[in-house]
Amino acid sequence: MMRNSLARTDLAFVLHPQTDPALLEVEGPMILDHGNGVFVTDSSGRTYLEGMSSLWCAALGFNEPRLARAAAEQIARLGTYHTFNRRSNPAVIDLAERLVALSPMPDGKAIFANSGSEAVDTMIKLAWLYHSGRGAPERRKIISRRRAYHGSTVLGATLSGIPSMRGAFAWPDPGVLFAEAPHFYTGGKAGESEEEFADRLVGDIAAMIEAEGAQSIAAMIAEPVMGAGGVILPPASYFPKLAALLRGHGILLLSDEVICGFGRTGEWFGCQAFGFRPDMMSVAKALSSGYQPIGATLLSAEVHEVVRAEASRLGVLGHGFTYAGHPVTSAVALETLKIYEEMDLLARVRALAPAFRAHVGALASHPLVGDARAVGLIGAVELVADRATRRPFAASDGVGTRLIALALEQGLILRNLGDTIAICPPLVIAPAELDLLFTRLRQALDALS
Ligand code: PLP
Repeated sequence: MMRNSLARTDLAFVLHPQTDPALLEVEGPMILDHGNGVFVTDSSGRTYLEGMSSLWCAALGFNEPRLARAAAEQIARLGTYHTFNRRSNPAVIDLAERLVALSPMPDGKAIFANSGSEAVDTMIKLAWLYHSGRGAPERRKIISRRRAYHGSTVLGATLSGIPSMRGAFAWPDPGVLFAEAPHFYTGGKAGESEEEFADRLVGDIAAMIEAEGAQSIAAMIAEPVMGAGGVILPPASYFPKLAALLRGHGILLLSDEVICGFGRTGEWFGCQAFGFRPDMMSVAKALSSGYQPIGATLLSAEVHEVVRAEASRLGVLGHGFTYAGHPVTSAVALETLKIYEEMDLLARVRALAPAFRAHVGALASHPLVGDARAVGLIGAVELVADRATRRPFAASDGVGTRLIALALEQGLILRNLGDTIAICPPLVIAPAELDLLFTRLRQALDALS
């Protein structure tokens, strides 16, 4: 294959995350050069509709000029500063105020980070500090779920339930307990309703708490919609019942909103779409539309009160990142939230959601599709070898990977999570662009059959 000099230099010097190095050497890197709305163009001049918002984050598309201006103006004013030792800056102050007001914990507090993984790490540390402040430092275990994704730091990998993320990377014997993923399509038993399925899963968690001892468990972490694990939508009764169970045992419920936050589900946050009030939440990605690396952890007033008292007792909140609350990332995130409010983001997502759901639903009858699901503007189709028995393809078939390659040929970027094809377009997508996305996806599916 002919390679331009950029591709050769990439191969010589860049180690790519989440990439098979052998495949990279055969196929070369895909070098994205510029964006225009929901489209991106590679270095050879080919343009693609970006059906995954980069990695679930570019809600405003790929070249929003207001975000470019916000970054440039802030760099010209104060290009960097930290927030340790009482330091602050106007951008992070305004951002925190707006973010907390938007959240379901309006009396709470925000602490900043540079990524979703760091926001998750922060949330777990604060859960430990909270219990230690309440005189229960022995509460250390965390409940997570199979197929969960909570980031790529050592703690994130340890909390994740995706085998490739854990593999060589999860911390040994970490005190993480794994519950089942609430995926009715693969986990529901014959004759079981979705509600009965949810009851069974919550019952299993109750039994796990009983067996481990509630006094040893600090928190449960959960994505409202499981993203990287396969865009799994829980049954409606799952989270309300789970939240009541955990509250009864003094176990904190941590909502990992890194994908679901900021309108993706048709509500500001996924916990609102799925009917629960978390004690803390992690956000990132669409907080800046992905234009700057940022994450944040939001604490309820009750959790914050205990954390504040405990940190004061210790003399310091011994946690923080150099770039947390960075003025430039904060200015870009603040401008992002202003744009969301001015464009009435929720109204826009809710107006588009029925068409999105109809498009996804129309794929359910395709001979390769076993399940098709959507909420707001996030969805997936799950490819199966046998629709009647729900038998999956053999992993060695690489069906999901082949589908993604065919979609790319059609000018569409999507992402496969095994044989589940995720669809998560920018929230500014126009109805005609949504039609184009699904026309191309169907063409790719037809080419595979
Ligand atoms: N949590 C969830 C639910 C995610 O989907 C991700 C990333 O996709 C993360 C955490 C980690 O975020 P980051 O890649 O910004 O560290």
